[in-house]
Amino acid sequence: MSGSKILIVEDDRSVFRLLQSYLEREGYSVVNAETVASMRRLIESTPVSLVLLDVGLPDEDGWSALKWLRARSDIPIIMLTGKSEMTDKVVGLELGADDYLAKPFELRELLARIRTIQRRTEKAAAAQAAAPAANGEADGKIAFAGWVLDPASHLVKSEAGETLHLTQAEFRILTLLARNPGVVVPRDDLMSAAAGRDWDPFDRSVDVHISNLRKKLDLDPNLPSLIRTVRGAGYMFVPKRD
Ligand code: CA
Repeated sequence: MSGSKILIVEDDRSVFRLLQSYLEREGYSVVNAETVASMRRLIESTPVSLVLLDVGLPDEDGWSALKWLRARSDIPIIMLTGKSEMTDKVVGLELGADDYLAKPFELRELLARIRTIQRRTEKAAAAQAAAPAANGEADGKIAFAGWVLDPASHLVKSEAGETLHLTQAEFRILTLLARNPGVVVPRDDLMSAAAGRDWDPFDRSVDVHISNLRKKLDLDPNLPSLIRTVRGAGYMFVPKRD
């Protein structure tokens, strides 16, 4: 998507310049924040369509920046980090990053991931724009346990109408589960649904997404989870709780 603005939160000027010249050649405009503080100022004043977020920043770390961003918007975020440990990936996904790239990475790889995320975002926006305003019976909405999931608008709302914040991967996993209540959905299927692509099959991420979904959806700790673990097989959505 040419013409869209990417915020690069990166304190290393040489890395920023490299990303800038590459992404500008690909038709993006680019803006830089060297600290988390300046990222906050920029986000408040400038509409951006995607954030590339470095983990090692001078004032705060990228994780707290990620948390701050996620608490206020659904903007796609790709984490960039010097470390390639699994724990970093898990932390990033838990906190709601859309994707993750360990430095050093290929610029082409970064571009591919940016495009993948933007295609998903555009599709979701188009579906939302095309969705009928009035609630219909045959509009594909799925109601369960006090929530309504709308595949067209990519939103999950409470009965009171409040929107539940879910990452794109969480939404896709929940949709697949909710469409198959009482059926064991294999981990592989959830993984493909989460990733929307077939590379980097990072298999712990399904468990991380499920754990996030449980935290968000299971409001009463005295009730069994809406999403049951079926050991060695996958997960099962159990909307009836009595
Ligand atoms: Ca850095």
